[in-house]
Amino acid sequence: MNYIDPHIHMISRVTDDYHRMALSGCAAISEPAFWAGFDRGSVDGFRDYFHHLTEVEPKRAALFGIRHYSWLCINAKEAENVELSRGVIQMIPEFLNKPNVLGIGEIGLNKNTKNEAIIFQEHVDLAMKTNELILIHTPHLEDKYKGTRMIIDMLKNDKRVNPERVLIDHVEEHTVRHALDNGFWCAMTLYPTTKCTPQRAADIIEMVGTERIMANSAGDWGKSDPLAVPELILELRRRGHPESVIRKLVFENPLSFWRMSNRWQEWPVEEVAAKKKKDKARV
Ligand SMILES: [Zn+2]
Repeated sequence: MNYIDPHIHMISRVTDDYHRMALSGCAAISEPAFWAGFDRGSVDGFRDYFHHLTEVEPKRAALFGIRHYSWLCINAKEAENVELSRGVIQMIPEFLNKPNVLGIGEIGLNKNTKNEAIIFQEHVDLAMKTNELILIHTPHLEDKYKGTRMIIDMLKNDKRVNPERVLIDHVEEHTVRHALDNGFWCAMTLYPTTKCTPQRAADIIEMVGTERIMANSAGDWGKSDPLAVPELILELRRRGHPESVIRKLVFENPLSFWRMSNRWQEWPVEEVAAKKKKDKARV
């Protein structure tokens, strides 16, 4: 089955991962801007990173027939530096005409601090002024529940925000309903240790259904699995879910969300049809 991994940091993965993903049926990915493992010192550092996300990585992915999209922002960890963050937010529009950019992300909270909240809202303001989609990172572990509520409150307080154009990522059992009930899209992150395992993600799907929800690997330089989405496909098959349900989760839903982006260029009709046909043949 062809699938999409809507959240993976390929800058931190080796080329062999692209190869294995392509062999496993990966048709497209999107790569949100994130923390580099160290705090960057200047706006120019981010300019180079955005160049990588919008020019370099799409070419690397194309070598394996994988479509590459990206999201731009300064992440929550570095948002503690308000001055630098404001410089980056001002620079982002330089890249908003690049064809592979889907929107602003992954913005959010890390430790739920005041500075993080300020910079989060300034990113949202930019997204509203430029009519961009938004991808949101929710905090890990013990900060997740409170951080998710804070994020949703801030979004609801901004009357310009249409929840259907916002995706809340890294949802788990205790946050998924809050995101869905408020009209947002959401995504489960499949990690070998923290976050959701493929089994937990399958349980969540059985609880909440397949509307406005997707799954990703969030593969990065930490312990993570770039083939986590195919692992979820196997788990759902093992439980007897129909191929149409699995395909909605791992292919149609991310595509439906991406299609709302300003710069979306529809994939050639024959290509989408061919993927469907290929999937059918494998059922
Ligand atoms: Zn990420």
